[in-house]
Amino acid sequence: MIFEGLSEKLQGTFKKLKGKGKLSEKDVKSAMREVKLALLEADVSYKVVKDFIKKVTERAVGHEVLESLTPGQQVIKIVNEELTNLMGNTQSKIMFSSKPPTIILLVGLQGAGKTTTGGKLGAQLKKLGKRPLLVACDVYRPAAIKQLHVVGEKLDIPVFSMGDKVSPVNIAKAGIEHGKKYGNDVVIIDTAGRLHIDERLMDELKDIKSEVRPHEIMLVVDAMTGQDAVNVADTFNSELGIDGIILTKLDGDTRGGAALSVRAVTGKPIKYIGMGEKLTDLEPFYPDRLASRILG
Ligand code: GDP
Repeated sequence: MIFEGLSEKLQGTFKKLKGKGKLSEKDVKSAMREVKLALLEADVSYKVVKDFIKKVTERAVGHEVLESLTPGQQVIKIVNEELTNLMGNTQSKIMFSSKPPTIILLVGLQGAGKTTTGGKLGAQLKKLGKRPLLVACDVYRPAAIKQLHVVGEKLDIPVFSMGDKVSPVNIAKAGIEHGKKYGNDVVIIDTAGRLHIDERLMDELKDIKSEVRPHEIMLVVDAMTGQDAVNVADTFNSELGIDGIILTKLDGDTRGGAALSVRAVTGKPIKYIGMGEKLTDLEPFYPDRLASRILG
């Protein structure tokens, strides 16, 4: 379960605080040292942890808290609010274009879960009454095109592909035209990933971006890679510009560092989380619900 270790440690720290009745500034500061260590152990970025502790401490050593009858509870409330803020505060939704089709470009490294997530996202949007089309632009990995067709078939969502001899830009453009012709109001474009970020990949994505002008560039990153996921997101955001993040494999991530850091580091919201391999395992991301899981 996500935040396993973090949750256990924070609950231990707060139990001590609650047991104390009245709190001094020193009590709060020593609790904050424990919180800091727990967050670092959960693989949260150092700068994010530092800023977080500073904010919480500033609020928690105020008179209102220290002189309250339940200071321990107040500190927990502040930590809960700041954890929620850290992850973006409120739910961020996909912005649908007023002039359909809404074009969503899925980008990310190989193995992050892009192709699977494309299908999952299509299924979610279908449930909202949309008519999605999946477009296969990963021409370097022929199996990826096939994989998208398999996913599309399972979900009864149409897939547009042109094989692997046409450039991704042209496939994307043709896919959008196809979508317009057949009344698809959302076009989800699956792009190629590499094992690492390289210039050719970025150039290709920049080309697709400038030619098709997507409404949403959604980065798919693997939560289990922790700080690497955050670095990948930071690079994609500064090089290409992203609008949102889908964090996959949260079902296998016990630490939760990426979930807690990626918004603060990139300034871009997590919009969905992947919670398993099944095509139904995608959920909208609610910062408050995840924060509550940490504090139990
Ligand atoms: P791509 O290379 O980015 O297109 O990645 P794929 O879509 O092929 O996914 C790579 C692997 O990750 C597959 O085995 C997926 O089933 C798996 N995967 C994707 N999302 C999730 C998730 O949220 N949870 C788990 N446990 N596995 C996932």
